[in-house]
Amino acid sequence: MPAQRLDGKACAAEVEAALLERVKTLTANGTIPHLAVLIVGDDPASHVYVNSKVKMCERLGIRSTHIALPATTTEETVRQHVAALNQQEDLDGILIQSPLPDHMDEEALTDLILPSKDVDGFHPQNLGRLVQGRRDGLLPCTPSGVMRMLDWAGIDLKGKRAVVLGRSRIVGMPAALLLAARGADATVTVAHSKTEDLPSVCAEADVLVAAVGRAEMVQASWVKPGAIVVDVGINRVDDASRERGWRLAGDVSPEVEHVASWLSPVPGGVGPMTIAMLMENTVRSAESRHVGGTE
Ligand code: NDP
Repeated sequence: MPAQRLDGKACAAEVEAALLERVKTLTANGTIPHLAVLIVGDDPASHVYVNSKVKMCERLGIRSTHIALPATTTEETVRQHVAALNQQEDLDGILIQSPLPDHMDEEALTDLILPSKDVDGFHPQNLGRLVQGRRDGLLPCTPSGVMRMLDWAGIDLKGKRAVVLGRSRIVGMPAALLLAARGADATVTVAHSKTEDLPSVCAEADVLVAAVGRAEMVQASWVKPGAIVVDVGINRVDDASRERGWRLAGDVSPEVEHVASWLSPVPGGVGPMTIAMLMENTVRSAESRHVGGTE
């Protein structure tokens, strides 16, 4: 039997319907949630991501400010933009689109964003709260989207053995922390490029989260029959049969569909959840500004 679809698009639509109501309430009370998206350079994929975030803001009634700077911009100029956005009182969220040009220190720049406006959830204070098991910070969007999608599908993680493939600051490590957190209660292994015998490590997983950025690397033979597989990867691979000459592929081979009990598709899985969680972080941040304003 083919795996059930972990349908991120459907789950994201539910999250967005709930957000629409929260935005209406905020707006009726005089607070319009406001997100600033800053992009540097002309990477076409990044511009597509930014445009879809801006469009989602429009659909939900969230105000957005789109700042596009040329690739030749200095790091100091980006710092000045972030400082100004931090000061702007009617602004709830600041996002710096990754990747930045090579001459910029991406981590140092995202560290400058006020933790309360860090809707990507990458600031050390927000990640630190996650390590402490606290839920009062802004959570990184992709890992929290993965957790929301698993919850939406009614998957109980308690006591399950989870393997997270990848240990990045933005996906792998926070995903591992969320899976191991009280309430989720999975037993977590983090695998990476130095892991020995990766197929055997993956084959132990009841829940496998693949975030490596290697197209279709996870093979059906690596997956325990009945496992839940979340494919975070977004990779562009050549495909002469498509008019545009490429297609999107996840980190998981399509054959895994015949072994897993649940599998998230690419596209239509974690991607829509990431944007939905960004919107939720923005609304949450606006709600605290509203409460702050009425105190
Ligand atoms: P990074 O490149 O930052 O991290 C990749 C991780 O995978 C690293 O920990 C690396 O190990 C590990 N890795 C790489 N190659 C191998 C290998 N051959 N065997 C074992 N481990 C390996 O990527 P990100 O975490 O930023 O993103 C991962 C994927 O998720 C990408 O495809 C990205 O496009 C996608 N993504 C999707 C999002 C969505 O919304 N759906 C959002 C963000 C990312 P090491 O640390 O040892 O180098």
